[in-house]
Amino acid sequence: MTSTGNALMRSLPAIDELLRAPAGEALGARFGREFATTILREVVTAARARLASEGAAAMPAVDAEALLAAAEARLVSLVTPALRPVLNLTGTVLHTNLGRAPLPQAAIDAMTAVAAGASNLEFDLDSGRRGDRDSHVEAWICRLTGAEAATVVNNNAAAVLLLLNTLAPRREVIVSRGELVEIGGAFRIPDVMSRAGAKLVEVGTTNRTHRADFEAAIGERTALLMKVHTSNYAIHGFTHAVPEVELAACAHGRGLPFVVDLGSGTLIDLSRHGLPHEQTVAETLAAGADLVSFSGDKLLGGPQAGIIAGRADLVRRIKKNPMKRALRVDKLTLAALGAVLTLYADPARAVRELPALRLLTRPRAEIDEVARRVLPAVVAALGEHAEVDVVDCASQIGSGALPVDLLASAALRIAPRVTRGNAVERLARAFRRLPLPVVGRVSDGALLFDLRCLDDEAGFVAQLPRLAWPR
Ligand SMILES: *Cc1c(COP(=O)(O)O)cnc(C)c1O
Repeated sequence: MTSTGNALMRSLPAIDELLRAPAGEALGARFGREFATTILREVVTAARARLASEGAAAMPAVDAEALLAAAEARLVSLVTPALRPVLNLTGTVLHTNLGRAPLPQAAIDAMTAVAAGASNLEFDLDSGRRGDRDSHVEAWICRLTGAEAATVVNNNAAAVLLLLNTLAPRREVIVSRGELVEIGGAFRIPDVMSRAGAKLVEVGTTNRTHRADFEAAIGERTALLMKVHTSNYAIHGFTHAVPEVELAACAHGRGLPFVVDLGSGTLIDLSRHGLPHEQTVAETLAAGADLVSFSGDKLLGGPQAGIIAGRADLVRRIKKNPMKRALRVDKLTLAALGAVLTLYADPARAVRELPALRLLTRPRAEIDEVARRVLPAVVAALGEHAEVDVVDCASQIGSGALPVDLLASAALRIAPRVTRGNAVERLARAFRRLPLPVVGRVSDGALLFDLRCLDDEAGFVAQLPRLAWPR
């Protein structure tokens, strides 16, 4: 270390001294004295370490003022919520990593109403006795799907786990080999099956499974027949899957239940609203499924939840499983889900008011209008450093719903004029560092912002002057 470095090290102010300075007092008052002290100590320790390793030249000004300012910046960043809103311009509407379905105002209002105080979560206001938390949504689920009964848990993965653990512990569950799906984030049917205590029996081949395959596999230890929606892939060509009515007949002929993990699970016929057809929960139950499980935050457009709907006797057994207690949802989820379900009373209204469905069905002309309005601001922000145009693109539904169907959309394509040092990646990072981070996708040397999901145009445009892009 240089002699000036040594001298600086000795002259680093003591923590006490920093806390007594007016700016230090202010930090103590704002963040709590103990917390402010801890962070000041961290900042001073870091400064000392840097001085020791890099010398004074690397740190020209380590006076009290600089240390207090560094501590303040650190304190502010620590108390800023880590989980925050972003703009999803990736083109994947139901993006699992970006929180899936945006909630409608009605759901946010319902959550707010029960968040601050007590509610009748498990309390029957008529009798004054203990109630069932599912009661707040069960009737609506039944009305919309034709199910006799229903229950709600944390997500669809939990729903499948609970269902199998209740109906098939130490017994066999027959599934087509073509449906042993892995959903992103380590949900794999064979693994969930073994964790539930059930034994998987695979039948058929990857591309073709026949009714006879199921019939041959049914034995004394069979608990149920199961169908799993092949959410995120499609098998084309020489294929055969057993239709649900036949699987149901096959199971019922042997006195067994037939259950379906429907994955996304839509409540209405999406083909009437310009989207590809996806079998509804009601259609699945009508085809003979005894239980159907599906997510709350995929095509349904609600909060994260897993719904099990179907036969009353089976749902009753599921509710009695002690695991239900561990997988249950909280009051906020139930409030939001209840509000979302009531919107489905009028399917056209659901498509209008549920952001997920509204964005999925957003007309191409409207997306073009968004592009026309925001383009000048983006051109102005990037100056001559990038080429910006509007291009055709295709959005995806996401979350494993209808994986091969793409929706025509428009994107801003931002291509840096220099390509050195991975300029596109740096540009993408600069957009992610904005106060309202903007997340796009990089394709072919350019950054693409699919505008289908851009609702907050003003918020997007207002922060562009703050883009810090080291060109
Ligand atoms: C998405 C999906 C799941 C998991 O649902 P989560 O709500 O994400 O837990 C399970 N099965 C299928 C077929 C799915 O598509």
